[in-house]
Amino acid sequence: MTDILGPAMPFLKLAGQLCVVFYVVFHLSLIFWVVRDAQRRGAMAWFWGVATLFFGVLTWVVYMVVRPPETLDDAHERELEIAARESEMQRVGATCPHCFKPIESDYLICPTCMKQLKKPCTNCGRPVKSSWSVCPYCKTRQVVGERVAEAPNVAAPAPVESFADAAAHAETLAGANTPKKKKAAPANSEA
Ligand SMILES: [Zn+2]
Ligand SMILES: [Zn+2]
Repeated sequence: MTDILGPAMPFLKLAGQLCVVFYVVFHLSLIFWVVRDAQRRGAMAWFWGVATLFFGVLTWVVYMVVRPPETLDDAHERELEIAARESEMQRVGATCPHCFKPIESDYLICPTCMKQLKKPCTNCGRPVKSSWSVCPYCKTRQVVGERVAEAPNVAAPAPVESFADAAAHAETLAGANTPKKKKAAPANSEA
């Protein structure tokens, strides 16, 4: 056996040594890579380094499965992005509840989708939310649920109408309750 391999022996020895060198370099590179990656992702770098030293590729496979999905830089960048977006939202202010486009707080209608946002106060004309029953600027009571365009027009004649209605109602009530009076009235007119 040794006789057959005799001439090839130095070559095989060299090949074996090269394999060992290659394995050591590969192993050290793997440890280096795992430790650095674990550091970047905030994982336990020393633990993964030691584990890779002992178990090599097996540790690398496990590490690739359980490592944190994003690096610390990525996480930091994402946090910055979220903070920037939040500050942008605060700078822009409110958004339209219908189309989510940015609006100013004193808009009566959304300029994009034309939906009603607020109505003008019946007294001072400043923007008042439909759900508010009182104007926060001048303390005037608001007609809750009234449409914005109708609110100012209706507000003026409303008391007259309601007064007239009340008078008519009172009259009918009086007529119903006291028929004598009703009978008396025609009698007077006849006389
Ligand atoms: Zn809109
Ligand atoms: Zn007002």
